[in-house]
Amino acid sequence: MPYDYDDQNIFAKILRGEIPNKTICETEHTLAFHDIRPQAPVHVLVIPKGAYVNADHFGAEASEAEIVDFYRTLAKLSADLGVAPGTGGAGYRVIGNAGPDSHQEVPHFHMHILAGRSLGAMLVHPA
Ligand code: 5GP
Repeated sequence: MPYDYDDQNIFAKILRGEIPNKTICETEHTLAFHDIRPQAPVHVLVIPKGAYVNADHFGAEASEAEIVDFYRTLAKLSADLGVAPGTGGAGYRVIGNAGPDSHQEVPHFHMHILAGRSLGAMLVHPA
């Protein structure tokens, strides 16, 4: 199934430098910045620079270099933020929304890193 990427989405505009963001780190293929409406003391968004709609699009069509860079950046970031259990942090939650049932707001693949407090149950309204 072809993926239809809307290059007018807000993260595409951030990547083109058309609107500002609070960047935390940037690599060849990946950008991480603070979420504009944080839902936890730490709320960071990690996005690939490439034009991918969601996690399944990224996993299916991104190059190995992009995929490795994305997950290495996410891992380094969680350690740098002091939340990675592997480096003594209290933990974090990674969320990746995809499509209408997930209420994905921005159609450019991103992972949320949420941390800094106990995050409670994974879903507020389980089925
Ligand atoms: P989604 O529901 O697509 O997984 O989450 C999109 C996230 O992007 C939301 O948490 C929202 O607060 C964040 N967001 C939306 N617009 C902007 C923006 O202009 N700048 C930043 N930094 N975050 C944004």
